[in-house]
Amino acid sequence: MMTRKLYQEDVYKKECESTIVDIQGTGKADDPFVIVLDETIFFPTGGGQPCDLGTIDGIPLTEVYEKDNVVFHKLFPFSQENQDQASMIKWKVGDRVSCMLDWDRRFEHMQRHCGEHILSGIFFRECGGVNRGFHMGSGYMTIDIDVPGISWEEAQRIETMTNEVIWGNVPVTTRHYENRSEAETLPLRKALAVEEDISIVSVGDESNPADCVACCGTHPSTSGQVGLLKILKLESYKGMTRIYFKAGREALSDYQNKHRVLTELNVKYSSDDNDLLVKMKAQDEKNKEVRQELYLMKSTLIEKAVEDILNNYGSSGLKKEGHYISSPGLLIREYPYFQVNNLLTISKTLTERLSDHKPLIALVSTRENIVILATSGKHDCGKIVKDNAHVWRGKGGGNAAGARVMFPSRDDLDCFISFVSQVYQNAK
Ligand SMILES: [Zn+2]
Repeated sequence: MMTRKLYQEDVYKKECESTIVDIQGTGKADDPFVIVLDETIFFPTGGGQPCDLGTIDGIPLTEVYEKDNVVFHKLFPFSQENQDQASMIKWKVGDRVSCMLDWDRRFEHMQRHCGEHILSGIFFRECGGVNRGFHMGSGYMTIDIDVPGISWEEAQRIETMTNEVIWGNVPVTTRHYENRSEAETLPLRKALAVEEDISIVSVGDESNPADCVACCGTHPSTSGQVGLLKILKLESYKGMTRIYFKAGREALSDYQNKHRVLTELNVKYSSDDNDLLVKMKAQDEKNKEVRQELYLMKSTLIEKAVEDILNNYGSSGLKKEGHYISSPGLLIREYPYFQVNNLLTISKTLTERLSDHKPLIALVSTRENIVILATSGKHDCGKIVKDNAHVWRGKGGGNAAGARVMFPSRDDLDCFISFVSQVYQNAK
């Protein structure tokens, strides 16, 4: 049993009628149909190229694979809800079925795969590097060229030459050879791994090809159909250079996406492609200055806040204006403009400077609905938060010397602060 591979005879054949020569499975969820046909248009996974998909009698394929020259077609299993439909399919050996190829998917594979041929061929011709590994991922492809440290300039030169071969629209031919010695008369890029029944793919003039290598994948008939190839980046990999690239429709989609991003950036920076980077750099400089200025102003405000508190502290016992409390045992201040890290700086200075009095310090950021508790005294800040904050839906924690808690609303925060002021204002 050997499947006739129609994709090797006519790579553009998109549909056919074939005969079932073997069938396994019931089509149900845990036992999908696996069909062998006398001839197939579906390319099975192999040589770094993913398999074709499509339908057989309208039922989608999930996988096509090959074993000992036989191509197996695995079909989409019917779900639990559609078990009846599965039993309605009465395929048997000898039945004729109609096969439809997902052409868009296949053509993209052909574009990408052929792009890889040309790129690898030019790397070989230009720097003697052999492609030792090929990966066709879902978003990009990679090849590993066995030359270390290929420069970006060199890669760009090779990328241009690759596209020149594409624009040249030269023929891509596949020839079959019965044995190794016949095939080895060609200027092969890579030593042959098989002894007989060898397919050699050449791009361009066979006496001086852009690429010539053994391959059993699917290729367009001319290089022009690859459309476009773009190298994305280079990476050192096990003493080789790994090249990331895109080809065909995926390269166009990538360009469309990059153009969209670039257009948005140009609107944002009032720039064009040529001065975008200059304008971004200028904006960065400006931001740096603003951050520096903000830092200085915040530092001044923090110093001023500390000074204020110390000047008022405890001199006349309890002093209360809203949440502004200064008593020997308790200090509460609220700030609309400080963030938590600023409050931490303030509380640290205060606990040090008031270490003789050891008050409980509560600093409030009304901007973030956060309270910082700190003390160098007998109170346990973590315990105060743990025992009480949950009443007003506060979340946080800490240790004896310091704790923080965040409230879902300003009202909840105010209730917590009122509680703290009532309980601790006369604490010694
Ligand atoms: Zn190939």
